[in-house]
Amino acid sequence: MNQIPNSLHASDIAHSIHPYTNARAHEAQGPLIITRGDGVRVYDSEGKEYIEGLAGLWSVAVGFSEPRLRDAAIAQLDALPYYHSFAHKANEPAIRLAEKLAEITPEGLNRAFFTNSGSEANDTVIKMVWFLNNALGRPQKKKFLARTKGYHGITIASGSLTGLPANHKDFDLPAIPVTHLTCPHFWKFGAEGETEAEFTARLLEELEQTILAEGPETIAAFIGEPCMGAGGVITPPEGYWPGVAAICAKHDILLVSDEVINGFGRLGTPFGCQKYGFTPDIMVTSKQLTSSYMPLAAIMVNDKVYDAIADHTARLGTFGHGYTASGHPVACAVGLENLKIIEERDLMGNAARLEPAFQAGLRAFADHPLVGEVRGTGLIGGLELADKATKQPIGKSGALAARVARAAQEAGLICRNVYDTVALCPPLIVTEEDIAQIFARLGAALDQVAAEAK
Ligand code: PLP
Repeated sequence: MNQIPNSLHASDIAHSIHPYTNARAHEAQGPLIITRGDGVRVYDSEGKEYIEGLAGLWSVAVGFSEPRLRDAAIAQLDALPYYHSFAHKANEPAIRLAEKLAEITPEGLNRAFFTNSGSEANDTVIKMVWFLNNALGRPQKKKFLARTKGYHGITIASGSLTGLPANHKDFDLPAIPVTHLTCPHFWKFGAEGETEAEFTARLLEELEQTILAEGPETIAAFIGEPCMGAGGVITPPEGYWPGVAAICAKHDILLVSDEVINGFGRLGTPFGCQKYGFTPDIMVTSKQLTSSYMPLAAIMVNDKVYDAIADHTARLGTFGHGYTASGHPVACAVGLENLKIIEERDLMGNAARLEPAFQAGLRAFADHPLVGEVRGTGLIGGLELADKATKQPIGKSGALAARVARAAQEAGLICRNVYDTVALCPPLIVTEEDIAQIFARLGAALDQVAAEAK
């Protein structure tokens, strides 16, 4: 038997494998162990305070100490800690949450299927779409369209939709038929002299030509985040989404809005598709659905998708798909209470009200020597660290953003470096005062790294 290490720190180094972590660097530096939360703040095992500038992983809308979510979980654990949804079984929280989601999501999205995570949800979307096209007698209509820098999860299928190099390299992905189109990032990928409108037109032309070249009869669905998150907080150019929606409709291609980050007010509108003016056939939500207090994701589909699937289950006798914890009663009870809090405290409205202060605070860094571009919308934003003239990373790609995130952590702000971008996405309960503190701490980190880099 292995010797039991004598501290949490040593035990973590000895026995854990961390996601999205350089394991050898972790063995040398060890973990930051977070032990408690209070509103937008968390505290480590040494008692040091941090503002959680990324709401955990873009997800803790109501903050880190909401007693109503604890109470909802305990009440449900007392009443019925677990039941499944297979073979006509149901439980009240799952029924009520599906009903609530049908009420608050955009017109037409009337049905919910629950999974434990965003990755599983996107896997389920792929399987639903394949199942549906087999049901409709068009077995060749199976390919997905996604975008480079899009993030849709990390399972074999959802990871294939993701368009980021670290998620493919040496994992032998993509493993399903998917074409990644140009990332809709005007500053970075706009051609010399091209206007934003011309950039949009070029991307829409690329979409249409890709569909025609591959054959519309082979393309099943287009998936995208309205505003990209983990690829570096990338807001789309004007007119992009309505254009994508029109082309998809023309070629009978399903449109999937991945709202795992955008959903429930993050962009200052209830859902991201509403910010950019399109209506999807399928919407994927997670994260802020439960404020991540419990693992849960919900796929919402319209009647066209549901009816094709439902008819086929009648022919086959079942829908051969589902998770042990699909519609978990405790997760759904927490989700319901969380949505109630978001509604009662008008947290989506708070995001819209604080958007000007938050975005102005971000944009105040536009002239900073390390910053190439500032972008964001609602309560999500990013600073891309780059040479302003060449738009290329300063030094090794990703290194500077990692240093800024580390310096910010030392200054009491947890944010996230995604490639060359330092991302912020605070809890929806954030106040103007918190926002001022976030930017004071981030500014100190940027200045420190800039001074060291001289
Ligand atoms: N889709 C988007 C847009 C995401 O941001 C994420 C996670 O960050 C996922 C899907 C995957 O969700 P999960 O990490 O719960 O599997």
